[in-house]
Amino acid sequence: MTRIYNDPADFAEEALAGFVRGNTRYVKQVPGGVVRRSAGAAGKVAIIFGGGSGHYPAFAGLVGPGFGDGAVVGNIFTSPSAQYAYSVAKRADRGGGVIFSYGNYAGDVMNFGIASDQLRTEGIDARHVIVTDDALSAGDDERHKRRGIAGDFVVFRALAAAAEKGLPIDEVERAGIKANNATRTVGVAFSGCTFPGATRPLFEVEPDSMAVGLGIHGEPGLETVTRVSSRELASILVQHCVADRPADAGVRVAVILNGLGATKYEELFVLWNDVAPLLAAYGWEVIEPEIGELVTSLDMAGVSLTITWLDDELEEYWRASADSPGYRKGTVTGAVDLETPDVEDELVEAAIPPASPESRARTVQLVGLLERGLATIRDAEGLLAEMDSVAGDGDHGRGMVRGIEAALTAAQRAAERGAGVGTTLAAAGDNWCEQAGGTSGVLWGSALRAAGVVLGDTSELSADLLARAAEEFTATISRLGKAEPGDKTMLDAAIPFSEALSRLLRQGAPWLEALRSAVGAATAGAQATAEMLPRIGRARPHAAKSLGHPDPGALSLSMLVQSIQKFAEEASR
Ligand code: ADP
Ligand code: MG
Repeated sequence: MTRIYNDPADFAEEALAGFVRGNTRYVKQVPGGVVRRSAGAAGKVAIIFGGGSGHYPAFAGLVGPGFGDGAVVGNIFTSPSAQYAYSVAKRADRGGGVIFSYGNYAGDVMNFGIASDQLRTEGIDARHVIVTDDALSAGDDERHKRRGIAGDFVVFRALAAAAEKGLPIDEVERAGIKANNATRTVGVAFSGCTFPGATRPLFEVEPDSMAVGLGIHGEPGLETVTRVSSRELASILVQHCVADRPADAGVRVAVILNGLGATKYEELFVLWNDVAPLLAAYGWEVIEPEIGELVTSLDMAGVSLTITWLDDELEEYWRASADSPGYRKGTVTGAVDLETPDVEDELVEAAIPPASPESRARTVQLVGLLERGLATIRDAEGLLAEMDSVAGDGDHGRGMVRGIEAALTAAQRAAERGAGVGTTLAAAGDNWCEQAGGTSGVLWGSALRAAGVVLGDTSELSADLLARAAEEFTATISRLGKAEPGDKTMLDAAIPFSEALSRLLRQGAPWLEALRSAVGAATAGAQATAEMLPRIGRARPHAAKSLGHPDPGALSLSMLVQSIQKFAEEASR
């Protein structure tokens, strides 16, 4: 339970502002996150961590001399936008290129990827070291699919230390990848975590049980078992890590026993008292273990064990000194430049790619479309809130209004700067993600960005291009949200919409006719959700209650496409 907040929607933003106020010796705030108060040496590779909020000290708490050069900070459990990642990287770059490092989550991979493309077009070498340490989240043959959890910390340390030594970017990247390959984590959770302002946890763990392998945002684990003694827990954690250890594992190990947010340090020590002898029994030498909170998950009760098998190089990096708000070790020298301001609030905007006149004209239409959509959703805000409180948390109406307002603001700004329709849609989507909060905000924002990327800024708006944009919109929602048709989500309106639209357009139907049919299909799809039981998202635990009521996300999607149709019909008159 989170008890201290003002408006829950502002929690992450206010927490970041307070963090910066309290740590001006280390960090300064920039749009999208924080950078070191005293920049690293000129020519040094800049190491940038990132991801959603709710994981303190990851990620902003790990910025400082000997450690991160910057952190990109998203909303709670929400990937920061590509624009934010770009903005932080531009401030942190010291001329040696930048390496983004983050846990393996679809939204982060996408947004950091887009930012890197942008940086590269400007001549800044941008790389990624994606952390995949969560041993139970995918098999050994699919390591690239594993999530990143507390192993983030080991990889971050290796990258930071290698960069601090002045190694070139290829070498620093290699060190980070090596650390990731040598690292395994296994976690257990005893309780879910609760968003500020929410009345229920995001997911539940039955009392007296524990979920083995549960992710740091409540992603499903391997199994739920009865809670056991510390000794037995130690053995479960160690055995899972050992079973998965790399083929070339040596005898020296770096170990983290990480608390997930609501586990006392004394409990961690009790557990460490049981873990340490087990590791010794394997003949391993534990190098400078870390017992404490390094990558948390809001107020989740739980713990994870991370083991990294070290060679000489990784051992050197693991032992290196660092000085950051959330982690201090050894002695780091270097003057702190308190002359610079605490907060730099001017957004470094990515350059606007060149756009064709036709595409720029479409941008103007897009702005009109968003205005229309906003009016529609404002009218329906109360209804959507009501629908979301049947089985969800009641915030869907507000979230949609905030999201479209943000999308509109970003689109207007992009239009002023001469952006084409693809860039404008992507910028609108990014801002929607950032400002809306909630699952639907991330899905809508990411889907719009993806559609924008398909449309581009120079291509003529052919039937095929529109069809592909609609397909990409829906594919993004299903890829990120992992819902199936029939799970009672916005997908149950999005799929019929994009299928009908792309099929008709490809058959050569006139655009408006195709749109009308597709909107009809979306509306029918949204209505049909009333008879479905939610199998995913916040509504799932209260599935039965929602029978007879449509899914709020499907309903708002059908309303928005209806408003597109009206807009298009008026424009064609
Ligand atoms: P939250 O659930 O975070 O409070 P909202 O209330 O804004 O977010 O949105 C709820 C809607 O989001 C649901 O009605 C559903 O349509 C959609 N949704 C939730 N989870 C998923 C998912 N995994 N995939 C697709 N849509 C989802
Ligand atoms: Mg909701």
